[in-house]
Amino acid sequence: MRVPMLDLSRQFAGIREEVLAAVADVLDSQALILGPAVERFEAAAAQVCGVASAAGCASGTDALWLALAAARIGPGDAVVTTPFSFFATVSSILRAGATPVLADIDPHTYNLSADAVEAAILEARRHDPSLRVRAVMPVHLYGQCADMDALGSLCRRHDLLLIEDAAQAFGAAWCGRPVGSLGDAAAFSFYPTKNLSAAGDAGLVTAADPELLERVRMLRAHGMRRRYAHEEVGWNSRLDSVQAAILAIKLRFLPEWNRRRQTVADLYDRLLEETGLAAPAGSTSSVDGLVRPFTDTRATHVFHQYVLRVPRRDDLREYLALHGIASEVYYPIPLHQQQALAPLKLGSNPLPESERAAAEVLALPLFPELREDEQRCVVAAIADFYNGPSTPVPLLAERHA
Ligand SMILES: *Cc1c(COP(=O)(O)O)cnc(C)c1O
Repeated sequence: MRVPMLDLSRQFAGIREEVLAAVADVLDSQALILGPAVERFEAAAAQVCGVASAAGCASGTDALWLALAAARIGPGDAVVTTPFSFFATVSSILRAGATPVLADIDPHTYNLSADAVEAAILEARRHDPSLRVRAVMPVHLYGQCADMDALGSLCRRHDLLLIEDAAQAFGAAWCGRPVGSLGDAAAFSFYPTKNLSAAGDAGLVTAADPELLERVRMLRAHGMRRRYAHEEVGWNSRLDSVQAAILAIKLRFLPEWNRRRQTVADLYDRLLEETGLAAPAGSTSSVDGLVRPFTDTRATHVFHQYVLRVPRRDDLREYLALHGIASEVYYPIPLHQQQALAPLKLGSNPLPESERAAAEVLALPLFPELREDEQRCVVAAIADFYNGPSTPVPLLAERHA
C-alpha cells in the first residue's frame, strides 16, 4: 500500500459541486477581486477567530508583512521570533525593514519559549541599545498554540506587540480562546496544504484594534483608502473573489475536518503506544528515543501535522519511503542556518533545541480523509523498521468483532 502525506483530491470529491457552483457565481458576477465574496468570507472568518473583523490578502507571507507594516514596525525595530519555522516567518520581518531576533524553542511543543524570548530581548538591548524591540511573533507550529499565557504576560511587561504567525493553526485555541484573537494581530495562510486552504495562494489578517486592520486594508491596496490617493507605499496584496468564495465553503467544514485530524492523531498515539514504539514527550520508555507529539493541556491542537521526534530520523524516513509511505521534515534547516540569511548572523543566541528539532522531527501522513488501514500501515512500517518485519496489526473492526 502507498500512503500519501496529503491527498487533496479526497477532500475535493466531497465538496466538488458546491465549489464549482460558487466559482461559477463569482465568474457570472465578474466581481473578481475583493468585492462581496471577499467581504462575506472576511466576516465569517472573523467570527470563527473571535474578532470584530478580518482582512483578506494574497498569501500568508503577505499577511505577516501586512500585520507588521500596519503596526508601523520597520527600520530600527526588532521582532523576536523562532528559527524553527517556515522561511516566511523571518523573511516577512525583513521585508518590513525590521530586524529579526531569534530565540530558542520549547523541546516538547517545538514552539517559541517565553524564557528564551526574555533572554533574547535582554541580550538584543545589551548588544545594540539603539535597536527598539517592538514585537514578539510566535508561530503556532503544527497546529498547536505557543504558550500564549507566558508570551502575553512577557509582552505586557516589556510593552511589546504580540503578533501570531497562525499559518498552521486556523481553528486552534488556547484556554478556549480562538487563534486570531490571542494577540494584537494574527496572520493566516490558506496555501493548499494548510488546514483551511484555497485553490491557490491566499491569506488573512486579524487584529484586535480596528484601526490596525484599517491600515492593513489600506496597505494591501497600494496604500490607498480613496481611489488613486496614496497615503503610504503599500503593496498589491488583495484577495481574489474566487478564492474567498471557495474558502467560505470550506470554512463551514473546518470544525469537522479539524476534529477528524484530532481523531487521526489520537489513533496514531494509540497505535504507537500499543506497539510500544513511542512514549509521550518527557518520558524515556520508548524504543530508540522515539517521542510522539506533546499537547499542552491548555491548547486545542488542530494537528496541521503529526510530528514525531526520531533520533534516527533520516534512516526511518528512507525506510518508510522504500515501503511506499510518505513522510516529511518540517523543517530540516533552522532559519539562522539558511544561506539567504547567513550575512545577518542571526545565530548569536544559543539555539540548540531548534537545531536538535531540525535534525530529529518527522511528520507522518495526516489529513482528515486519511483511512484507518493507511494509518495502521504507517505504524506497522515504523515497527518493522525497529523490530524487523512482523505480522500486520489487525484492523480495529476485526479486533472488536
Ligand atoms: C505556510 C506558512 C507561511 C506562509 O504562508 P504562504 O501562504 O505560503 O505565504 C508562514 N508561516 C508559516 C509558519 C507557514 O506554515
